[in-house]
Amino acid sequence: MLALVINCGSSSVKYNLIETTDETDVCRGIVERIGADKSIVKHETAGRKPLKYNKVIASHSEALHEIMNYLLSPENKIIDDISDIKAVGHRVVHGGEMFKESVLIDDVVKEAIEQAFDLAPLHNPPNLRGIEAAQERLPDIPHVAVFDTAFHHSLPPHAYLYGIPNRLYRRHKIRKYGFHGTSHYYVSQQYYKLKEKPKSQTNVITCHLGNGASITAIKGGESVDTTMGFTPLSGMVMGTRSGDLDPSILFYIVEKEELQLNSLHSMLNRKSGLLGISGYASDMRDLISKAKNGDRHCQQAIDVFCYHIKKYVSSYFGVMNGCDAVIFTAGIGENSPLIRKKALENMEYLGIEIDEKKNNEAKPGTASIISSDSSKVDVMVIPTNEELVIAIDAAKVASASDQSAWI
Ligand code: ADP
Repeated sequence: MLALVINCGSSSVKYNLIETTDETDVCRGIVERIGADKSIVKHETAGRKPLKYNKVIASHSEALHEIMNYLLSPENKIIDDISDIKAVGHRVVHGGEMFKESVLIDDVVKEAIEQAFDLAPLHNPPNLRGIEAAQERLPDIPHVAVFDTAFHHSLPPHAYLYGIPNRLYRRHKIRKYGFHGTSHYYVSQQYYKLKEKPKSQTNVITCHLGNGASITAIKGGESVDTTMGFTPLSGMVMGTRSGDLDPSILFYIVEKEELQLNSLHSMLNRKSGLLGISGYASDMRDLISKAKNGDRHCQQAIDVFCYHIKKYVSSYFGVMNGCDAVIFTAGIGENSPLIRKKALENMEYLGIEIDEKKNNEAKPGTASIISSDSSKVDVMVIPTNEELVIAIDAAKVASASDQSAWI
């Protein structure tokens, strides 16, 4: 089944057209800088040269039209008719407590996504804008919402409750939700498949290390704890996000720096993390190369990042009473042997031994085992594919809704 995956940010629309039966990427692309003088449009189609051009695109709705025109253009021969697309899957960051799985989008679902605007002000509003634009352009096709939070619905209360008055949870739903759920789910599923392990008896720790980063403990196939919390700001240090802080620091900064709350929010989300510590960059490649040339602050940023991985991975061994595998994924996890080695060195006590050669030779884009033959715990690099999860879920929900229409 052909499924279109849409991922809308505040000024961008990313898309993937995926054939779910054989899990192949037919075409993918992005419209960036929507609303700016010149938006950037990119399309990549299997077996063809990538296409990139500038065009004035004022809204998410115009971006969707641009994408559909490309897919439907007779010269490009990607699809003949809009009805070739059987499902549209939308990435939605925050599903609150309501959505435990992917759902067919109707007015009630859209209202619930809107109700979660306060919980994810940077993500849910553009996600909903994207849904509305896509529904307008593809009105006769089922649209499905796939939530970043859904995989973590299995967190037990002792993992999701914060130590604050309980009425704040009851009234305002302040609790840990967790994010990157589709990625943690996908790489854990790949591990069970590759190693032929029964998921119900297997514990894994998945490290999604990109610009945003989170680590999840998955026991018997279910997320039992994860580092991100009420929002994606918490947990380990990230590219520009601070990760966990002593909450008192916030009051202290506001007083000492005479900051408004919105400036504090922006500082913690956009100017902290690796960028804040290094004072140089949020991008791990830049930090590694500058640290190699002796920059102390860049080295400290790398040290903090790796220490956080070690700390959370170790604690999740305790949470699950042991672990079969640690999995690295996303930009840093898939591509940096240095970070993987530094994060998991000196952990033989827990049964983790990295094989340096395997680690250095792991090919980007393919699943590789990087632990030594004698390591009790498998350490693997598994490329993530969140779009594929969204496409497959969209196809499943769309087929179910199609069948129920005949009942
Ligand atoms: P996003 O969260 O934006 O999807 P990605 O998963 O693409 O992020 O990861 C981006 C991060 O991956 C950046 O910090 C980038 O420097 C890092 N990265 C990509 N390739 C390498 C590499 N070869 N070595 C170290 N870091 C890398």
